Order: sequence, then C-alpha cells, then structure tokens
Amino acid sequence: MARTKTKPHPYQLFEDALRAKQRELLDSYERDKAAGNASPDDGIQDLADKAASAYSKELNFSLSDGERNLLMLIEEAFNRIREGNFGVCTNCSNQIGEKRLSAVPWTPYCIDCQELQEKGLLA
Ligand SMILES: [Zn+2]
Repeated sequence: MARTKTKPHPYQLFEDALRAKQRELLDSYERDKAAGNASPDDGIQDLADKAASAYSKELNFSLSDGERNLLMLIEEAFNRIREGNFGVCTNCSNQIGEKRLSAVPWTPYCIDCQELQEKGLLA
C-alpha cells in the first residue's frame, strides 16, 4: 500500500510562496518590457518556467539589482527544494527557523549567518 505517493512535500507552502514572489517580480519585468504592448494573460503560467533561462540574460534590462538578486535567490531556493536541502543554512548547515522561512523563504542563511552577511563578514 503506497499511500505516501501523493503526499505533498513538506516545503509545498514555501514553494508556493517562492513561486508567487517570482511571478510578482517577473510580472513587473514583463510589464516594463512590454510597455504598451497588450500582454496576454495566458502567458503568465509560462513565466515561472522561463525564469531560469531568462533571468540570466534578458532580465538584466529592466530589473533593479535588488530584484535581480532576489530572483536569483528564489531560483537557488527552488534548487535546494529539488535537492532536498531546503531550509538548511548554506553557510553553517544549521536548520533555518520555520518562522524565518515563512517570512523570507528564499533566504540561504539562518539568522546568525544573515547577520554576519549583513556585516560583511560572510564571503
Ligand atoms: Zn547559518
């Protein structure tokens, strides 16, 4: 009896949040890019899928550094979900608190390492 087959993985909520944030960023990018062009609603579904290949080249045009950086962090978070190490600090390998993940699901660092990073003490 394989009844765990369809069980949603434990990071589903975070993945949803990541996807929503990614879409929000890409939508504003698409609006900038399309400026004036009617943008078909049915293209939205593909945006997230295109993100991986698109953000490295095209997104450089109209996104701010902060937005680009955030998209990159989101991509990396998706990778960690796929690899099964989401929620683990990429610096010290400690578990990142669930509250922190809810607030900033794309964060690669636990709160301690985040502080180090903000002080410029992390490479
Ligand atoms: Zn850490």
